[in-house]
Amino acid sequence: MLSKDQLIQSYLACPECKTKLRLAGDDLECVSCNSRFQAIDGIYSLLPGENMYPVKPEHWDQYKWKFVEEAHGATRMKKVLKYINHEGTHLDIGTGRGDGTYLVGKKKQTIGVDYGLDSLRIAKEKNPHVFHADGRHLPFQNGSFSSITMMDVIEHLPNPEKLLLEANRVLKPRGTMILQTPTIEASRLKDVAAKIYNRSKTMRSLDTVIQRLRPDVPVINPNVGAQPYDVLLRRKQLHDMILSAGFTIEKRRLATYFSNILLIQLFCFADLYICRKGE
Ligand SMILES: [Zn+2]
Repeated sequence: MLSKDQLIQSYLACPECKTKLRLAGDDLECVSCNSRFQAIDGIYSLLPGENMYPVKPEHWDQYKWKFVEEAHGATRMKKVLKYINHEGTHLDIGTGRGDGTYLVGKKKQTIGVDYGLDSLRIAKEKNPHVFHADGRHLPFQNGSFSSITMMDVIEHLPNPEKLLLEANRVLKPRGTMILQTPTIEASRLKDVAAKIYNRSKTMRSLDTVIQRLRPDVPVINPNVGAQPYDVLLRRKQLHDMILSAGFTIEKRRLATYFSNILLIQLFCFADLYICRKGE
């Protein structure tokens, strides 16, 4: 586990000017621009001063994280663990409830960030190092991490190119970035699959059987609510963005995502990218 001193010395930086931070009482303070950052419920809020229209952190708090199953975050992370090496420190951007971050944390030192505070309160119970941050203004020093995951995150950010540039900045040379997002093309497959499904009596009865076996788990959880910003990218647009942020794409494959529930696995598709930062 990293000590508070280690975190401040070797990882954290001002989200505005990227200079190191120092302790100022209970707060953190930028040694250069004097921005001050407070902890809320033991979680440092390292957001830049300027507000980030149109999405605000409290919009994410309306998403009911308590009702999201643990399996949502854990299942998608389990599939990519093999791409994460053991060395160095990992950053999970969009840690959410922290279920995926927790899995990586068993393998190596891991830090998680999220834009919503409510989810971080849940994540904090499992992961000691979580911070309130905006992916486009990461509060970390250059070259802090050997690997980064952002699983179903980039579609939720206005100016997604900024997220990729920041990921590149905080990665070490040759570091790995694992990115998953339901691109427009991948999502179309979902529509096709759903059409086939609607026509198929066999699949419908399979659905009924599953609901009988697991009545506690609704196929689509009505309690969760909509996500406040959700703009899918085209593959071409995403490729260009990844390359111009300074990465090479080592692998792209189709991934099913979001849940361990059979039917949802079948019908939600995303693109998974394994990327590498240059020397
Ligand atoms: Zn500063």
